[in-house]
Amino acid sequence: MKYADLHSHTTLCNHACGTPDEYLKYAQERNLAFFGVSDHIPWPVGYDSEVRMKETEFPLYRQIVRDLQKKAAGSGTEVLYGIELDYVPGRMDEVAKAIENEPFDYRIGSIHYVSFGFDDEATLPLWESEGPDYVWYTYADLMCEFVNSFDFDIMAHPDLPKKFALYPSDMNRFHKRLEEALKVAGEKGIAMEINTAGLRKKVHELYPSLEILKMAKAAGMPLTFGSDSHAPEDVGADFDLARELAEEAGYRSILTFRNRQPVELPFS
Ligand SMILES: [Zn+2]
Ligand SMILES: [Zn+2]
Repeated sequence: MKYADLHSHTTLCNHACGTPDEYLKYAQERNLAFFGVSDHIPWPVGYDSEVRMKETEFPLYRQIVRDLQKKAAGSGTEVLYGIELDYVPGRMDEVAKAIENEPFDYRIGSIHYVSFGFDDEATLPLWESEGPDYVWYTYADLMCEFVNSFDFDIMAHPDLPKKFALYPSDMNRFHKRLEEALKVAGEKGIAMEINTAGLRKKVHELYPSLEILKMAKAAGMPLTFGSDSHAPEDVGADFDLARELAEEAGYRSILTFRNRQPVELPFS
């Protein structure tokens, strides 16, 4: 079985640790066929700037990945050049323009914000004042807008609002709305991500739930695996659990990407 970990970070984002070499070392020790670097994008400029590289650091990011690709050449672990971008309503033209000629192997699309960064512990008082319903339903609405309006390859951690184990009053309402986004994603060939970082958070679960993963399968979405590692030892973590969940939902393969073209890696 060839595994691809397509979701990892570097210290350029100001909330990760470890050197790129250390991440690669874990990728190789865990026999990953593909290791993708996908740090947080610096655009739109000024957006959530404390937890991402500056625009002026972007050439350094590109160089870090290119250097790692050279180091890994011939080792059995292929390093990929990815990016994790956020949906920022009203500012996606700036993002599209900034990356239109950048030769990423893939683009990960994420939502970490409603009107506040809901996956940041510091916003728990806002969770309290606005309520979980607001966070979850707004998140699903934004995901619908995102898949309809922007070109990306992988939908990251689709039920991220469960991070702190705070739930909406009507999960069915969330599922119905998210399902609309998954259908569009399926038509566009956007992959669903099983993200193992949830196991390391208060919720102690993979993202997404089995129910959402089954919806993604029914919608025709292919699948990727990501550790969302912000520390070297998390690279490739818990992929056997991810595979169990994938198989339970009916998946028989995952994808990796080169130059934004999907490559299928069958289970077995
Ligand atoms: Zn991060
Ligand atoms: Zn991430």
